[in-house]
Amino acid sequence: MLEIKTLDNLFGTTEGLIGPMGGGKTNEFIRRCKRLVNFADSKRYVVRIVKSPIDDRIVQVLREVFEGDPTKTIQSRDGLIISKGVYSIKDSYELFHLLDEARIEAEERFGLSRVVIAISETQFLDSGVVDFVDSLDNNTYLLWEGLDKSFRGEPFLFSDYKATIFDLMDLSDELFNLPAICEHPDCTRRNVNYTQRINEEELPSHYGEELIVVGELQYQARCREHHIVPGRRKANILRSTVRIKGNQGIKFNELFDLGEMVGIPVDETKQLLDCFIREKQFQLKDNYLIYTGTKNHF
Ligand SMILES: [Zn+2]
Repeated sequence: MLEIKTLDNLFGTTEGLIGPMGGGKTNEFIRRCKRLVNFADSKRYVVRIVKSPIDDRIVQVLREVFEGDPTKTIQSRDGLIISKGVYSIKDSYELFHLLDEARIEAEERFGLSRVVIAISETQFLDSGVVDFVDSLDNNTYLLWEGLDKSFRGEPFLFSDYKATIFDLMDLSDELFNLPAICEHPDCTRRNVNYTQRINEEELPSHYGEELIVVGELQYQARCREHHIVPGRRKANILRSTVRIKGNQGIKFNELFDLGEMVGIPVDETKQLLDCFIREKQFQLKDNYLIYTGTKNHF
């Protein structure tokens, strides 16, 4: 039987908007949020729109294109703005408080505890957002928006490196993919899903660079062929070498030697190991490297 789509049967579900930079996720998110806010009183629910402080900082760097208080506003690259019901949160733990407050407000105003939570740039939060989504009841509708893949072309790791956005995708009832057009000058492919990061020296970002950088970096939508990540193949070799050793791990020096044998310069091995240790994919214990990566990383 065909299900009739109503606002009522959104409650109890989670929906995600995913895709690369330039695919129009923020536009679509703001469009949906505005519609949900406009009908909140007449259809009897309370809306909370959430953004992370990392996004505030990025917006402050781009201040010339931004209007108003960045902590209380979400703006797309095309200039679409929403400010009503927008809250900035420090960590995902605050989501639980925000939901409790919204439930009480909804109960008082409408005698129903129906709440809509909408999260922008979800990839900037910590992995607690996965627990939050897993805990939602039938009176809550969650809409989230975020980059599914990092500049490395891998599932985006949350800020505490304990889960990825793919864990959130697994918990979502429906996902809407918003692909883009490849921005490489020699390419006209549509429906592309990768985000190319170009650093301050106008070069593709190396795999070992920080996952989130607040600064003047360029991001472009790219197809798989034109998505360039120097060091990615080498990172995969090092990671799989450590991972297959399991709990016993591999000696630090041994990995450098193995790296050199397959053509990875010592400096690059060091840069990649720094990255894996920083992001808690490897743990260094008594000169042994042990794989401690997230289950959904690959
Ligand atoms: Zn292309």
